[in-house]
Amino acid sequence: MSQDGTGGKRPRVVIVGAGFGGLEAAKDLGGKPVDVTVIDRLNYHLFQPLLYQVALAALASTDVAYPIRSILHHHANVEVLLGEVAGIDLGGRRVCLSDGTALSYEYLVVAAGAETSYFGHDDWAAVAPGLKDLDDALEIRRRVLLALEAAEREADPDQRQRLMTFVVVGGGPTGVELAGAIADLSRDILHADFHRVRRQDLKVVLIEAAPRILTAFDPPLSNKARAQLQELGVDVRSGVRVENVDAAGVRVGGQVIPAATVLWSAGVRPNPLAKALGVPLDRSGRVLVDADCSVPGHPEAFVVGDMAALTPEGAKAPLPGISPVAIQEGRATARNILATVHGEPRAPFHYLDKGFMATIGRARAVAQIRKLRLSGLVAWLAWALVHLWYLVGFRNRLVVFLNWIWAYLISNHGARIVIGRRADSAADSVNRGEAVVGGGAGCLLPELGHRDAQDDGVARRVNESGRHVDGRPVEK
Ligand SMILES: Cc1cc2nc3c(=O)[nH]c(=O)nc-3n(C[C@H](O)[C@H](O)[C@H](O)COP(=O)(O)OP(=O)(O)OC[C@H]3O[C@@H](n4cnc5c(N)ncnc54)[C@H](O)[C@@H]3O)c2cc1C
Repeated sequence: MSQDGTGGKRPRVVIVGAGFGGLEAAKDLGGKPVDVTVIDRLNYHLFQPLLYQVALAALASTDVAYPIRSILHHHANVEVLLGEVAGIDLGGRRVCLSDGTALSYEYLVVAAGAETSYFGHDDWAAVAPGLKDLDDALEIRRRVLLALEAAEREADPDQRQRLMTFVVVGGGPTGVELAGAIADLSRDILHADFHRVRRQDLKVVLIEAAPRILTAFDPPLSNKARAQLQELGVDVRSGVRVENVDAAGVRVGGQVIPAATVLWSAGVRPNPLAKALGVPLDRSGRVLVDADCSVPGHPEAFVVGDMAALTPEGAKAPLPGISPVAIQEGRATARNILATVHGEPRAPFHYLDKGFMATIGRARAVAQIRKLRLSGLVAWLAWALVHLWYLVGFRNRLVVFLNWIWAYLISNHGARIVIGRRADSAADSVNRGEAVVGGGAGCLLPELGHRDAQDDGVARRVNESGRHVDGRPVEK
């Protein structure tokens, strides 16, 4: 407990994670008779629903992230710490940090979210990145753009097709959004900015193990989403399981789809802190919480958002891992902590279902809002309004809004910048999956030739001896 300046004791609330759930709890405890410590391993709150637009170069990182300190700086009773939580001692009421320090608490809110799950194939992660944070988004952007760059330089038609093939594994909202956005990005830039690769060589494949994509939606809407993806040229394959992912591509149904870029959006698992709590978990590893989001046997500790499994009374399944659930659980938990502080009874959590939405490319979407079913442009407008509303920060809202208007009218992708590595060396590793050796004083690599005037839109590499690098003589 800490002093409140009047001699009274104020309980300390520690909130782990400033994502959707933790941030809402912190905001609602601001200015209240408690002292709050928010701890996150990142210094920013991330708006994950728009992350795929950062990955596909439609938005910049700073458009979807906001410093946690700035969001909470109005509240004198809320402090923000940057740090990684390594463990939680529920019995001792202490949160242990990776730097060896600890924070004690009277109330605890754990809202550390989820991470990408490869269902026991963690070795696929290196080949098929997931999308959970800004680093993932920038890595995906780098891979997609470098694959197109490498295709522009590639002479071998099979290699070129492999570079021009993008496979997205997982037909949930994120997979649908990624596949649609790759189709949009490539369609926009291939004809305008590239000279050798052709739009018709582009192949985007979306793979889903369930019989249909977007299983959380009603079947007719899921069919409409499929049709809209197909209009964008996406090859949607449902009811098939991925058997292997490696540098050559993806194996499904015993056949390999050669692809240089594979993106993984097939599943998430709760943050490892859920297991570390040592309390009962559901089959997917989420903490089985009581009706007020508290941990059974620990009324002072709450788990909210993607880490929690809360099945409302009368429901057959736990609430899904989506932002409205996390936001509402965070707010309800703040109310219940204050009720307990004031000696009042707690209220069970009631979820107000606001529905589901998924966007497909630049101006298409599907939306299921209670009894309302929308698809196409109307659904996209509803999606755009909702996402602007929930995005943190006026500047971010304005920038994203202007970006969307610009993209809609001009069809451009302004954030098409490869960062994080030297593009030339990375392009070669994308190209061949080989380590690039040599360099220094003597360059052992073949020289990239000029474009043949009469070629079929494909660059042929010509070396000094007047032969293509694959050994064929140059036609004069
Ligand atoms: C690409 C993508 C798209 C999505 N699209 C939608 C959508 O369109 N609509 C929708 O409703 N939902 C969407 N979701 C799901 C939604 O973002 C999550 O349900 C929501 O973020 C869960 O909130 P949370 O508070 O549980 O966790 P998060 O928002 O993930 O926050 C967790 C926080 O904990 C921090 N943290 C994690 N581990 C530690 C640690 N050890 N120490 C300190 N801090 C830690 C993280 O840095 C993060 O800030 C999407 C998710 C993704 C990944």
